[in-house]
Amino acid sequence: MKRALGAMLWALVALAARAATAADQPAGTLAAATAALGADHIQSIEFSGTGKWYQFGQEPNPNAPPPEFEVTRYTASMDYNTVASHIQRATTEIADPTRWRPVPQMAGDRGGEGAQEFVAGGVAWTLGAPGGPATGLAVSAISDAKNAEERTMEIWATPQGFLRAAAANHATSRPITGGGTEVSFMIGKHKVVGKINARNQVYIVHYWIDNPVLGDTLCEAGFTQYRDFGGEMFPSHIVRTQGGKVRLEIWVSELKVNPPLVIAVPDGMREAMTAPVIVTADRLADGVYWLRGFQWHSVAVDQGDHIVMIDAPLDEARSLAVIAKTKEIVPAKKITYLVNTHVHFDHAGGVRTYVDEGATIVTLPMNQEFFERVWRTPHTLNPDRLELSKKTPRFLPVTHGKLVLSDSRRPVEIYEQVGTAHSDAIVMVYLPAQKILVQVDAWNTEALSAPRIDTIGGEYVNPYMLNLYDNIMRLKLDVNMLVPLHGPRTTTMAELRQALLME
Ligand SMILES: [Zn+2]
Ligand SMILES: [Zn+2]
Repeated sequence: MKRALGAMLWALVALAARAATAADQPAGTLAAATAALGADHIQSIEFSGTGKWYQFGQEPNPNAPPPEFEVTRYTASMDYNTVASHIQRATTEIADPTRWRPVPQMAGDRGGEGAQEFVAGGVAWTLGAPGGPATGLAVSAISDAKNAEERTMEIWATPQGFLRAAAANHATSRPITGGGTEVSFMIGKHKVVGKINARNQVYIVHYWIDNPVLGDTLCEAGFTQYRDFGGEMFPSHIVRTQGGKVRLEIWVSELKVNPPLVIAVPDGMREAMTAPVIVTADRLADGVYWLRGFQWHSVAVDQGDHIVMIDAPLDEARSLAVIAKTKEIVPAKKITYLVNTHVHFDHAGGVRTYVDEGATIVTLPMNQEFFERVWRTPHTLNPDRLELSKKTPRFLPVTHGKLVLSDSRRPVEIYEQVGTAHSDAIVMVYLPAQKILVQVDAWNTEALSAPRIDTIGGEYVNPYMLNLYDNIMRLKLDVNMLVPLHGPRTTTMAELRQALLME
């Protein structure tokens, strides 16, 4: 009892001291906000709520908003001293009635548990998967240098994180007309600009991060509707945008200050981040190679004196490894064409490397417009080869739904895949001489073993796979082998019909 009283008294004294400090400062300054928001004593923070999450970089077309998810539970735990965070996000996809999304939930789907994203000491890792059938709690270290940068900056783009970072990074302040202060500083190579209002609230933080597709990308964190969470002021509404698009909107319902957080890097994660990119080559037919890396693949077609490459997933590191592998198995031939299937970021992040390599980019006109527009933004944060060489991109658009790259032995036919909810501008690639069809995001082949009963007890047929089948029929393609740009193995048409419950 005595101890409780003592603690209470101490809390009162601390509160009074803080109030005095805040009141001592001219309103709206960095010092006043630091005192008012407790940034001088808050070492770690955990805030929870509900809201919306958007799958950035997976827009159905470059001009559409990203797929929207309801966030049923969001918890962000952040430690400002160890620069670590753990974000838990349980989501369900919100159906877009103009499309098929979302595919029905499959029995055994654990997607509701959502993703868990971590960063600690510059190492990022992820558990689970957002939306869709869960991949289990497999630890993923893919693209983690980029994730580490993004998640680390998100720690500093919280009100208290921003104020602490400002204090640690020689921030400069200038008054805003009408009251408040604009505060600017650098965290390493990242520029940060935030604004404090006359009520001593950090209400917006701008910063820039690298994106392999978009280049130096503006991110914005907006903090409004501050309220008292058990003695600490914190925004009850948080909106995060990236590249002008909303990524996350959270209504905060709970705040814990200085919770004990232990966010430890799992064994092998640090090494995985810097491990060389592995590419394996499978010969699918004479002169046709499947260049695989974990879950993102490309296909190279030898057209005699040059190579046609299909898809450039992830980022420049992946592209460089794929190009090196190609030069090893097919020496002394230039890659003259890069077929881009669609602009989802996991398939578009490596395209710029091929421009630098001298290849012409073959894609649908809508995607060409997108690349031409976004590539005007510089890539100074993480300069890629194209940023340094400044080569002019060359495009060959796939118009009227079809384009043929002729060759006597290995012609390459590129077809628009129409009517899929996945993307309004996506192609599949057919090799008529080999009867091979390269397809992306329609059938990842893991689905072979997936249950075929959805949660409402109906038989489940994946609409993306059905659309792929419809397109093959529409184009009257004679296919012997289906090659996925994700997924572990090639399949036959009989297997596709089987998966569609046709056989
Ligand atoms: Zn996609
Ligand atoms: Zn994909």
